[in-house]
Amino acid sequence: MSSEILPPKEIALSNILPSEPLLLMGAGPVPIPHAVAQANGVVINHLGDTMDQVIQRVKLMSQYAFQTRSDKIIGVAGPASAAMEMAITNVLWPGKKVLIIEMGTFSNRFGEMAEAIGADVDYLSTSSENEYTPPPAITLAHVKKKLSETQYDVVTMVQGETSCGMYNSILPDIAAEAKNHGALVIVDAVCTLSTMPLKMDAWGLDIVVTGGQKGLSSIPGVSVLAFSETAWNIVETRDNQCPHWCLDATRAQKFWGHQQYHYTAPVPGVLALHEALRLICTETLEKRFERHELSSKALQAGLEAMGLTLFVKEEHRLNSVVAIHLPEGADSAAIRDYMVERFNVEISGAFGLNIIRIGQMGEQCRSHNLFKVLYALGMSFKKNGFEVDIAKGMAALETNLVRDLDHFVD
Ligand SMILES: *Cc1c(COP(=O)(O)O)cnc(C)c1O
Repeated sequence: MSSEILPPKEIALSNILPSEPLLLMGAGPVPIPHAVAQANGVVINHLGDTMDQVIQRVKLMSQYAFQTRSDKIIGVAGPASAAMEMAITNVLWPGKKVLIIEMGTFSNRFGEMAEAIGADVDYLSTSSENEYTPPPAITLAHVKKKLSETQYDVVTMVQGETSCGMYNSILPDIAAEAKNHGALVIVDAVCTLSTMPLKMDAWGLDIVVTGGQKGLSSIPGVSVLAFSETAWNIVETRDNQCPHWCLDATRAQKFWGHQQYHYTAPVPGVLALHEALRLICTETLEKRFERHELSSKALQAGLEAMGLTLFVKEEHRLNSVVAIHLPEGADSAAIRDYMVERFNVEISGAFGLNIIRIGQMGEQCRSHNLFKVLYALGMSFKKNGFEVDIAKGMAALETNLVRDLDHFVD
């Protein structure tokens, strides 16, 4: 046997990529607009004048998206989880107490991160009891009780829990309670930013985190977060070191605030983010929220008319990611595989819950994508031996979209 290490064979990407890109209708990443894809193909000097202008504009447009006047807006070379970790590790350390409002995988992730750096972590848990039921909704009374028992430095929560399709509709009330209590409020708006209202300043949120590949319809791997003045004050005055070098907000602010070197910025990803934000500014938040709500509600009506059951009751249902209950005996992988093979459409399974999920974030909320995913899902259920009324579902989707045709931006 030769000891030489030879180059592997059959390594053309085209061997493994589908001949036509799949339509990504799952819980993220989502399809990106052409302008975003084009920008993502460009590399420029990360410290030059052009990059300075790009950063200034990304910050200005982010202020609009987050609805904040704070200029402490920082991009992160990393997934949304890295931005979550920047939030956690810059305002928490051993001896600090945090309350994690838990609705599922992503809200819980804040807790895992806080535990890892030795903060004192408490959970207000409303996780699902079994795979067939969504977690019970958090009430303000639960939160008030927790806050009355312990003095917390920080409260964390999600706006939308992607893993189970739940919407945290009382987020502004929880934030107000936490503020009264003297705690900082950290919010994960990864799947929701720019898909539904979020008012960072008006609601008194201290750190808001988002990723690229969900609501913003940019690429995965470049994320952004905003700090309030109160939060920034804690970051600046801490007398111990942030345990992460890359995620140290003070170091990152050298680049995002003062155009100085921290690490080499993910230039193409920042340019892509610029374009994603520009499209949001051009569309306006108001129209974008309307498009998301209309699309998602029409899809939900179509799914129900087809005979399927939605996992979360309407009052707590997230529009950005719609969770569908799997009927008895349905195989999640088989349903999704047929959609890929036959229709080139991909949707998501779930972490441990008996659901499949369809995303309604950014470019996913276009009528042509809705018709395609609903039809593909219906056909796949049929193929797998389940009774669904495809025609009725498609008709309900159409009626709901057309009813508001004047408002529909497509
Ligand atoms: C997707 C998602 C995350 C994690 O994003 P990554 O880019 O995979 O790290 C966090 N929170 C929510 C609500 C999400 O939907």
